[in-house]
Amino acid sequence: RAKKNRPGTSAMFEPGMRTELLRHVELGTDARRAFESGEFRLAYQPIVALPGGRITAVEALLRWTHPRLGPVAPDTFIPLAEQSGLIIDLGRWVLREACRDLAGWRAAGLPDLTVSVNLSSRQLQDEQLVADVTAALAETGVPASALTLEVTETALMRDPREVQRRLRALKSIGVRLAVDDFGNGYSSMAQLSRFPIDQLKVDKSLIDGIGTDRRQRAIARSVLELGAILELETVAEGVEEPAQLAALTALPCTLAQGFLFAEPVRPEQVGDFA
Ligand code: C2E
Ligand code: MG
Ligand code: MG
Ligand code: MG
Repeated sequence: RAKKNRPGTSAMFEPGMRTELLRHVELGTDARRAFESGEFRLAYQPIVALPGGRITAVEALLRWTHPRLGPVAPDTFIPLAEQSGLIIDLGRWVLREACRDLAGWRAAGLPDLTVSVNLSSRQLQDEQLVADVTAALAETGVPASALTLEVTETALMRDPREVQRRLRALKSIGVRLAVDDFGNGYSSMAQLSRFPIDQLKVDKSLIDGIGTDRRQRAIARSVLELGAILELETVAEGVEEPAQLAALTALPCTLAQGFLFAEPVRPEQVGDFA
């Protein structure tokens, strides 16, 4: 139903929205082609130990530069890949690629480095996931204990029973598990103890104010103390300012990640951190 005095325009979508919608449809259908022609790459962001800042791990982060539209953010294309089911093949590729890269770094002077890989909730529901992880480790010779799989708080809560079962199966092969973006979703802290996790990644939104706001620091403290009580490693996400780092040294936080330490880099650059 076109608006009467604006011929040719849709009543449902304003021009800006329409462009955005078309862009999404185009990106969604194009992602499969992009995957098959090797347009996806991995970047790696260091995770550092506190105090001291020694790099103990890197997180694998997907990158896609569309030939015509330019760089597309993961927050845009991951949901599209989840909807289309591409995330299963894409996620399997990420696991293999990250393990291959890690095997290279460990052989070339970084023997203790570990890698963290993000899993989407679609992958967690996939019967094949445990076999895929096992295969990626076997093919690359990476020990299971050097691979951390990150699952968001929201994905944990989606189907808690099935997720619990899948996470236990992953734990039984020896990989480490992290809850990503903790504090950004709605789950209660009490839920945490039900999952066999090793690491709690505290969302950037809870870290942003810790250098400047006493009350925000108190909230971050309570989350980090919970992690410590549950004997989890704790990662502060999105650390950008020296004042945040200063605040973290007085908090029970074992690891940190953020632009203050390093941005995500190309795989060839990870060796420079040695
Ligand atoms: P995430 O797993 O929480 O990853 C951290 C995100 O925060 C990354 O964004 C990283 O570049 C960004 N970041 C790190 N430090 C800072 C900082 O100091 N300031 C700010 N402003 N940002 C910082 P990126 O690469 O855009 O990824 C966004 C999200 O997309 C990821 O959040 C993750 O949920 C998802 N994602 C990325 N790669 C994959 C993947 O291979 N598989 C799946 N399933 N999801 C992925
Ligand atoms: Mg993550
Ligand atoms: Mg995160
Ligand atoms: Mg995130």
